[in-house]
Amino acid sequence: MSRPIPALFLSQVERSYRQGTSALHILRGADLAVWPGELVALVAPSGTGKSTLLHVAGLLEKPDAGEIYIAGKPTAALSERARTALRRTEIGFVYQFHHLLPEFSALENVVLPQIIRGLEREDADRRATELLSFLGLGERLNHRPAELSGGEQQRVAIARAVANAPGLLLADEPTGNLDPKTSEHVFTTLIALVRASRLAALIATHNMELAARMDRRVTIRDGQIVEV
Ligand code: ADP
Repeated sequence: MSRPIPALFLSQVERSYRQGTSALHILRGADLAVWPGELVALVAPSGTGKSTLLHVAGLLEKPDAGEIYIAGKPTAALSERARTALRRTEIGFVYQFHHLLPEFSALENVVLPQIIRGLEREDADRRATELLSFLGLGERLNHRPAELSGGEQQRVAIARAVANAPGLLLADEPTGNLDPKTSEHVFTTLIALVRASRLAALIATHNMELAARMDRRVTIRDGQIVEV
């Protein structure tokens, strides 16, 4: 059997920000591979570049140098349009705050990205129902975000992130806004989803207990990604 392709592969990625006349070097030759079915925790102190790394990996920001491969595809030379298309199909994002659309039901929030991608309503409904049921929200399909608990809202956000069956999930403190018990429950559901769908997940967290339950832990040290 041939080895699978990493869902995300960063090679010698550089990213710096201008600060007055000097430059702030955040990523300096960062390398990282995340494989299908793998959960990787990104744990590093504030200000070291976790969000920068997730933005660059998610094709939301361009690196100054280096290459980012998504599902084996190099992205540096792609047009903005091609990057957006790749992001829509291959990458799901979950943030600390759910950012659900308040006027729409849980189901509709998960249906919308699929419609934008061109799916028929019926197929999008079926996929959204399956996903939300898997995440324990089968009885909440028609609730609006305001009618859901914090943990339920975040599970809808996770369902929305994977609605188009991406190969890669990027999450920035996905349970950072939840109480410990809810956080634990949302995270357990997220692990089950990653395992069942062979997703690759890179999850920034300050929660060492959650990080300990992932397959690997990496941090950013001197602009490089190292295992901890
Ligand atoms: P983290 O997510 O680990 O807290 P960030 O990636 O948000 O870290 O930021 C890393 C560093 O880069 C911080 O010192 C931050 O102030 C700086 N930084 C982030 N974005 C910008 C920007 N757009 N312009 C200038 N500096 C930035």
